[in-house]
Amino acid sequence: MLSCKDVTERASDLIDGNLSAWDVLQMRLHLAMCKGCDAFIGQLRMTRDVTRSVAEAETRQSADAADIEAILCQLHESKQGDG
Ligand SMILES: [Zn+2]
Repeated sequence: MLSCKDVTERASDLIDGNLSAWDVLQMRLHLAMCKGCDAFIGQLRMTRDVTRSVAEAETRQSADAADIEAILCQLHESKQGDG
């Protein structure tokens, strides 16, 4: 069984899809039982999504505070459907 430390160390690899199927399974088992790590991964994933969205907005050279706020609103709304 992975420890919380193991999970946090591998969190970014999990999100990036760099783990083996076995490692992913171990991570999922831990997350199913550990609310703390589950929340941590959720936060990290959301941060990744926001960073990516902002980077894309900047690529279009139209990023401003309103754009970022709209992106955050979209993420928040899409989260609510997840359960
Ligand atoms: Zn944990």
